[in-house]
Amino acid sequence: MPFSKLTSQPNDPLLQLITAFSEDPRPHKIDLGVGVFRDALGLTPVMRAIKAAEERLLASQKSKSYLGPEGDKGFVKAIAALLFGSSLPDRFIDGIQTPGGTGALRLAAELLVRSGVKRIFLASPTWANHNAIFRQVGLEIIAIPCFDIINQSFNLAGFIDTLATASSGDAVLLHGCCHNPLGIDPTPDEWGIIAQHIAKLNLLPLIDIAYQGLGSGWSEDAFGLQTVLAAAPFGILTYSCDKNFGLYRERTGAVYVTSPDQEQLDCILSNILCLARTNWSMPPDHGAALVRLILEDKELTHLWRTELEEMRRRTLSLREDLARLGQVGHINLAPLTQGKGMFATLPLSPNQVEWLRSQHAIYMAHSGRINIAGFRDGDVERFGTALKSLIA
Ligand code: PLP
Repeated sequence: MPFSKLTSQPNDPLLQLITAFSEDPRPHKIDLGVGVFRDALGLTPVMRAIKAAEERLLASQKSKSYLGPEGDKGFVKAIAALLFGSSLPDRFIDGIQTPGGTGALRLAAELLVRSGVKRIFLASPTWANHNAIFRQVGLEIIAIPCFDIINQSFNLAGFIDTLATASSGDAVLLHGCCHNPLGIDPTPDEWGIIAQHIAKLNLLPLIDIAYQGLGSGWSEDAFGLQTVLAAAPFGILTYSCDKNFGLYRERTGAVYVTSPDQEQLDCILSNILCLARTNWSMPPDHGAALVRLILEDKELTHLWRTELEEMRRRTLSLREDLARLGQVGHINLAPLTQGKGMFATLPLSPNQVEWLRSQHAIYMAHSGRINIAGFRDGDVERFGTALKSLIA
């Protein structure tokens, strides 16, 4: 019988959380689960710059004919300029557009396997899909335990100790900024040390960046990736525009490779194009065309940057509100101001998370990850009260 070897797979717990939240009739419910940016009213509106670009695209687009597996070249170039600037004078860089950051990661993972890489090191915990994608293509995942969730801090020595067990040619995954699910990033000095070790051990860095501009600022958020890619001869970068341009369902991303040599870069790119062709043939156009229109136009770029900065400031001020709750039972919320981006993980057990949902209509991932942008006006106080009653 066809398909008889298949076993049913569990539903994605985060997607289940979305359904449970939407079916919950309690008016005061709080959604800290799904990883999308929200405004003070709990909405995820289309950015004004995107709306303006859509009007222009509608008026100017003359054809929907195929573009090619590389996607929108203007988009790829514009993002590269913003990402790398002039930070890598000794590297040749090229890339293609992909269906979201997830498409970029899948392609990068397949490229690693094609290149003979067997193992990938990554700081743990990481975004759940990282593990799933690397496992799917047959890479061995070596988890690096290097986060202290109680104190919301990064343990550089622990990271370097485990990294030192890697062999030449192994890959290492790093979050470019705004770590998901922890919000804990290395400091600029720590990035420098990490970069030196990657280069010394001859490892291949894969940097995933899905929240540029939502951490410390647009160029500050690129510091880590630029430092690592300048130190290692070769590197891969996967990019998502789905959060910082609010494009989510438009699936807008890119993958780039850096190389010390043009000929090798051409060879790598030809493999990337083959992989794209057999996976999705060509990426969806709409989101990338909008990003290109924004980045090629001074006025739209200014509008988009202003909106992005508003989003960044909103998460920062929510971090401060949470930190003011201070010590609640065993949870000290004060260090949350050191974190970056939309996510933080609290030291809560799955039972405690479940209790917060059933008793207080507060929804979050079972791991204790919260989407900080999910708090509407007044929600932080209610969250503090709920935590106190949980701990009491
Ligand atoms: N990388 C990280 C760290 C993410 O958190 C996400 C999305 O949540 C992605 C990549 C993928 O983003 P996209 O929605 O563009 O596929």
